[in-house]
Amino acid sequence: MIDAFGPGRLMFGSDWPVCLLAAPSAGVLEAARALTGRLGEEELRSVFAGTARRVHGLRTTWIRAVRQASGGPLRQAGVMPELPEVEALRDFLDDHLVGKEIARVLPLAISVLKTYDPPVTALEGATVTSVARHGKFLDIAAGDLHLLVHLARAGWLQWRDDFPATPPRPGKGPLALRTVLTGGDGFDLTERGTTKRLAVHLVHDPAEVPGVARLGPDPLADSFDRETFARLLGGVSRQIKGALRDQSLIAGIGNAYSDEILHVAKMSPFKLTTGLGEDDITHLYTALRTTLQDAVERSRGVAAGKLKAEKKSGMRVHGRAGQPCPVCGDTVLEVSFSDSSLQYCPTCQTGGKPLADRRLSRLLK
Ligand SMILES: [Zn+2]
Repeated sequence: MIDAFGPGRLMFGSDWPVCLLAAPSAGVLEAARALTGRLGEEELRSVFAGTARRVHGLRTTWIRAVRQASGGPLRQAGVMPELPEVEALRDFLDDHLVGKEIARVLPLAISVLKTYDPPVTALEGATVTSVARHGKFLDIAAGDLHLLVHLARAGWLQWRDDFPATPPRPGKGPLALRTVLTGGDGFDLTERGTTKRLAVHLVHDPAEVPGVARLGPDPLADSFDRETFARLLGGVSRQIKGALRDQSLIAGIGNAYSDEILHVAKMSPFKLTTGLGEDDITHLYTALRTTLQDAVERSRGVAAGKLKAEKKSGMRVHGRAGQPCPVCGDTVLEVSFSDSSLQYCPTCQTGGKPLADRRLSRLLK
């Protein structure tokens, strides 16, 4: 989810299920062109700029094929940043921001600012003291202020070693907030796509942000043991997929990692929490911890620039509909909803039976 592409570039997250190149090399573009044979230079660039899903309906499999053909650093990843990616980003920013003084904060898309008092410019002159994570929120603390960032579905953070001398014009393009350090480096927050959900808050206490205040416990915390997990699930009656994604129940798990956890646990996403036995809870707890811990380790390696090009994404079923399950070889299936979809392996998770997909059955009628 995080990768450093060339000096000073860090691209992070998107609503497009790959890590995108800011400036694809000629080799990557050539490989992409060879695979499609129908896209021109501009269209190819739009693919890499993350706007192509709407334009061309291209799929993850296509991007993966491009990556393999090019040998380039494209990397398949989750659909949106979740706990492991935000944790890796926190780790990266901890290295790059703590102890540095903020010189300028330029709000360029007012809609992303969810608070106005104090203004974001109040950060100017303050020194960053820590970078924390609450669920999927980043918390950059400077002075007595906290800059809380939720990247949501299409938000990005791009690290920059330097910035152009002339400030960009507000309201143009995806640039939402620019933060420049006294050393001349810093980061841009950007947002692409139609659903504007990137959210930036400047507060004295993180708990002033409603999305932070209502977060459930962090599933990677030492205190998050099997009993805690069992107690949380025992308090709700709903499908397990929805329960895992509920931020007020457990902080930081989204659509991608809930698919992964359920696949590891060999459990149907539609299974009801009320139907979970003691063994089910143990399996699910173990799957949750190992899946998230593995992903954090993997993402950290990437953030540190140590990812080898051949290292595969850890996703087993998420975003892989139509491909073979890495465990049993059965074809990974998908259930579509109005604004998302889930993927699962019928052999591993549902006793071989496909789950009902209302959209699909409507199409087949
Ligand atoms: Zn399987």
